[in-house]
Order: sequence, then structure tokens, then C-alpha cells
Amino acid sequence: PPVLLRLFSWMLPIGVMILFWVWMMRRMGGGHGVMAFGKSKYKLHGENDVITRFVDVAGVDEAKTELVEVVDYLKNPGRYGKLGARIPKGVLLVGPPGTGKTLLARAVAGEAHVPFFTLSGADFVELFVGVGASRVRDLFEQAQKNAPCIVFIDELDALGKARGGPGGMGGNDEREQTLNQLLVQMDGFDPATGVVILAATNRPEFLDAALLRAGRFDRQVLVDRPDRAGRQAILEVHAAKVQLAPDVDLDQVAARTPGFVGADLANLLNEAALLAARRDAEQVSSADLELAIDRIVAGLEKKNRLINPHEKRVVAYHEAGHAVVSSCVQGADPVQKVSIVPRGLGALGITWHAPTEDRYLMTVSELQGKIAVLLGGRAAELVFFGEASTGAANDLARATEAARAMVVEYGMSELLGPVRLRPERRAFLPGMEGYERGEYGDRVADQIDTEVRRLVDEALERARRLLLERRDRVERLAELLLEQETVSGDEVRRLVCDEAAPRAAESAPATSPLAG
Ligand code: ADP
Ligand code: MG
Ligand code: ZN
Repeated sequence: PPVLLRLFSWMLPIGVMILFWVWMMRRMGGGHGVMAFGKSKYKLHGENDVITRFVDVAGVDEAKTELVEVVDYLKNPGRYGKLGARIPKGVLLVGPPGTGKTLLARAVAGEAHVPFFTLSGADFVELFVGVGASRVRDLFEQAQKNAPCIVFIDELDALGKARGGPGGMGGNDEREQTLNQLLVQMDGFDPATGVVILAATNRPEFLDAALLRAGRFDRQVLVDRPDRAGRQAILEVHAAKVQLAPDVDLDQVAARTPGFVGADLANLLNEAALLAARRDAEQVSSADLELAIDRIVAGLEKKNRLINPHEKRVVAYHEAGHAVVSSCVQGADPVQKVSIVPRGLGALGITWHAPTEDRYLMTVSELQGKIAVLLGGRAAELVFFGEASTGAANDLARATEAARAMVVEYGMSELLGPVRLRPERRAFLPGMEGYERGEYGDRVADQIDTEVRRLVDEALERARRLLLERRDRVERLAELLLEQETVSGDEVRRLVCDEAAPRAAESAPATSPLAG
């Protein structure tokens, strides 16, 4: 009947509009009004059966050993609670991009068979004020309901940037609120519930100090670039997924890829497989791998991350120089590890020292020894290559600083005597705030410079002499470094020290024209 038809054609659009409106409200927050939309738009659900295991992550054994404890705790939180042992609430994974931090966090969840809640730092920082903070609250609520479980905050630096810095516009406030909420939540929850918070960052220096305080991310795990053995292990993990020809030698591939991280190596095998597929081959040959390496190396070189073989030699001898000098001078901290794994733009190699004890006092000869160790790298360059390189800039800065402190702060120079020599503090002009008259004039300033220079010169000469006398040992250590990229402190001592004495003594004691 026409009446019904007329009525229907009039009501249908209205009905559609009502349905549409209800649907909109649902999306925006289940009818609680506009203010609730931050909460419901973002549904967090934990991933329940993570299949990643520790065997999928290779070449980062030190990080894994630290995380085994977390897995054990998640498996039986009760036992730890009974003993009163306090497991760290937060563990921060620190390392360059692509080294497997995200992978490790998943592996912890997989090994412990617990749900895995993940959010990236960037997810918190939203356009709408207050959304980030409410997400943090949601995240912790959800996690506590699902304990034991893991909460993983990826790219924490996006959220945890130090407060009070020169901020952007407006968005900074929002991030600060979110960060504060995170701090409040981390303090508020009881670790006995079995929630462990993992976070990852590749820029720990940007993190707000409050995040690193006890009871928050108080444990930091370094996920470093892999050395040669580590790269081989990673290649083996990923090689399981591709058909490799029998002539492929993964050890050789590892040797050719210094500076590659796990993600680069995974990418390498994938590229090689693509090349093989393009030429219709059954298996990935070593020629495919060579070509893929060349491609990726070219890409990385653009990013300035790889060093050429000659540079690598210089770095190896430089680091060997530090290590050998430090095992010969009295009072130097023992070498823990020497490494020439390239790590970004700054440091090319590194020699780690384990401090023997907390030091409050250092004697003149120990300070001289320290300066000699700092200059050991430069000395080795001079001895073995006949010329200096730019690789020692940071060493020189630290050596000079130490020598200057000996003269002006500790009164260890005979020429200037046991006095403190405060330099002039320049603000802008004399008379302005912050300006402090120096305690000495130009003549003394010249003397200070001469003394500093003398201390540094002597230390360099001493390091050179030590290395010249131990040429063969430095060479042995440097060659070992070139082969393995990292050498442990024990190996260094085995190579460098005389069998009889645990620490090789210097042939002649350094003359000490210093008062002390
Ligand atoms: P990050 O979070 O440190 O930037 P990811 O964990 O996201 O690095 O790593 C990216 C990919 O690279 C991983 O999915 C994995 O395929 C590979 N990868 C990285 N590191 C490793 C490693 N140590 N062992 C095995 N594979 C790795
Ligand atoms: Mg990651
Ligand atoms: Zn150095």
C-alpha cells in the first residue's frame, strides 16, 4: 500500500542514521562519552604462546645468562617470594639497533611460557593529551590481571627522554605526563605479583635518570654487536631456513662481515636466497653470499659503519697497545676484555678494565701508570706503523685531563709545589656573575702547561719503551684480535705476561721527578 511505502521511505534513512551513530559511539568508547575513547580505542592483549626461544637468539650469550634468572623467576614466582629475594622489577636491554633486543624479550616470554604484552614507546606519545598516561595505566592493569607475565616497552627512549630539555611544542608536556605515569605505576606495583617489565633502547644516554633508579629499570643488560664467533652462531640460526650449498662455509662468511648485527646477517641470508632464486638455482651458493655481502657492505659503508682492513689492523694494534701497557704498569686495573668489533661512529675498538676495588686514593705512580695505559694505543701506532692516527683523540683528552689534575688539583708537581691552582673562570667579562679571578698569573699558567706536557710526554715514552721491549707479545695479541675480534682478559694475561710472574715488571722503574 502506498501509505506504507511512503512511511518506509521516510523511516529508513533515519534508521540508518541511528545505527551509524550507535556504531560511532561504540568505536569511540562504548557509550561512555568522548572522554573515554583513549581507553577503548587501544585494546591490549597479551600474546599467549610466544614461540621464540633462547636458541633463536645467538651471539649474545652474556645477555642471555642475565635473562635466564628472569625466566626462572617467572616460572616460579612463589619460590623467590618465600625467600624474600627481590627480583628486579624492570630490566633494560641496551644495544645498537638490530642486535636482537626485541627478539630476546620475546624469547624470555617464550621460555617462561607467560603472556607477552608489548607496546612501543612511540605508541604512548599520542596527539591527544592524557591518552598516553591512560594507556600506561591500562597496560599495568591488564598485566596485573594476567600475572605472571611480561610487559615489554620497546624503544623506551621515545617516551623516557630526559625531562626539562629543550622541548618541542606542546607534545613535550604530554610525554612528560606519560613518563610520570609510568614511574608511578612502576613504583606502585608489587613485584611479588610476577610481572616483569622489560624495555629496550638503543640510546640509553637520553633516558631520564629517574627511570634508572632502584626499583625501576635497575638492571641493564648490554646486547652488543656480535664478534666473529657470535656472527657465525647467528648465521647458523638463520641458515636453518634456507637451502645452502655444501660449499658454503659460514665461518668464512662471519669473517667477512665485521660490524654486522643480527638483523644485517638475517638480511644477508635472505638477499643471497633471493639471488639464488633469481637464477633458478636449487641452493644458495657461496657466490650468492659473496654478492649479497658486497651489496650490504656497500649499503653500510654509506652509513659509515664499516672499516677497511688497514684501519682494522691499526685498531687491533692500538687496542693491543693499551692492553699490554696496562698489564705491565703497577696499579693499573686488570684488563677484562679487549675488542675491535666496530661500534658505530665513535670508538673503533675498546679495552675494558675491571676496577680492582673502589678507589678513593691514587698515588703518584698509579696516576702515572694510568696515563701510560691511556697512551698505550698511540704508542703502539707509533711503534708498529711509524705514524699516529686520529683514533687516539679520546685517549689523549683523558690523559691530558689526568695529567692536569695531577698538577693543579693534587699538587703533585715539584716545579709548582703542593698547591691548588684554580684557573680563571670566565663568564663573559670580569665583573659579571660567574667570573672568578684565577689564583695565578700568566707565568704560572705557562708552567702548568709545561708540566702537563712533560707528564704526558714521559708517559708516552714509557709506553713506547714497554711496547718495544714486548714487540712480539703485542703482535701476538693484535693478530689474535684480528682473528677473533674479542679477546678475554685471561687470554690477554696468558699471552702477555711472563710465565713466572703473574704480571711482567718493567725493566727499569720510571724516574719520578714528582713530589708525592
Ligand atoms: P632490535 O630490537 O635490537 O633492534 P630485533 O630483535 O628487532 O633487533 O632484530 C631484528 C631481526 O634480526 C630479528 O627478528 C632476527 O631475525 C634478527 N636478529 C637480530 N639479532 C639476532 C640474534 N642475536 N640472533 C638471531 N637473530 C637475530
Ligand atoms: Mg627492536
Ligand atoms: Zn685508545
